[in-house]
Amino acid sequence: MKNTNHIFLLLAFVLIFSNVKAQDSISDAVNLQCRLGTISPAAPRNMLLKEAYVVPAAHMYPEWKNTGVHYTMALPDSFRIDLRGYVMPTTNTKITDIFGYRPRRRRVHNGLDIKVQRGDTIYAAFDGKVRITAYQRRGYGHYIVIRHNNGIETLYAHLTKKLVSTNQDVKAGDPIGLGGNTGRSSGAHLHFETLLLGKALNPAFLFDFKNQKTTGDSYLYRRPGSKYVENGKVKVAGPEPKYHKVKSGETIGKIARKYGVSQATIFKLNKLSPSSVIRVGQTIRYQ
Ligand SMILES: [Zn+2]
Repeated sequence: MKNTNHIFLLLAFVLIFSNVKAQDSISDAVNLQCRLGTISPAAPRNMLLKEAYVVPAAHMYPEWKNTGVHYTMALPDSFRIDLRGYVMPTTNTKITDIFGYRPRRRRVHNGLDIKVQRGDTIYAAFDGKVRITAYQRRGYGHYIVIRHNNGIETLYAHLTKKLVSTNQDVKAGDPIGLGGNTGRSSGAHLHFETLLLGKALNPAFLFDFKNQKTTGDSYLYRRPGSKYVENGKVKVAGPEPKYHKVKSGETIGKIARKYGVSQATIFKLNKLSPSSVIRVGQTIRYQ
């Protein structure tokens, strides 16, 4: 009998503890949203339990400037990006370069490259407002940045022509420019970035160009190292996944050495075994 009591006590404790943790993350969400002005502090908690699609961009960003693409702002522990109402920026499906660090060139590629023909129409991915229209001779060429109501910004570069102007409201699917080869670019392509509070996220987390759709109704960003509760357990968000595109002559061993990770890590992340064959052009996750 005494043992049973102990078990009940333990169970009760576990339940209370996990509930407290869950409440913590809910109150974090409440605080963020209050700060962002999207809800009143008195908003019913059960409204938030549904992890609602929240936060119009107007309240997330402290200022509206027509310059500056990448900048550092404190990122929330988590943020759910509402992907509903999207339109693919291009009907082209071929990815010619992936997101991430390029060891060979020692620089970061902040977006995805999608093959387009010169003159192809480029569309606004979501509703929003054009924040930047500019020209960078040695970089983006003609480019556009739109701040969207769902809290992210998108960037479209190497355009032949811009069809919108700064501070213009746009709807998802509005033609915003024509694809091209301006700036630092060899061959017509769309360089496409998705940014959360100034930080470039891998567009492949949100958009599947090959299949011309988003990866889901929403994408949940978690800041690496932030804590969250899942199934009653406290977890720590891991580093953002990083990918490598296999080139001719590369092996798993070579890729592992290149990024300073173990082959076992690569096997595990990609559900491969030492006998697996990789092919040129394949995308391998290494983090
Ligand atoms: Zn690019």
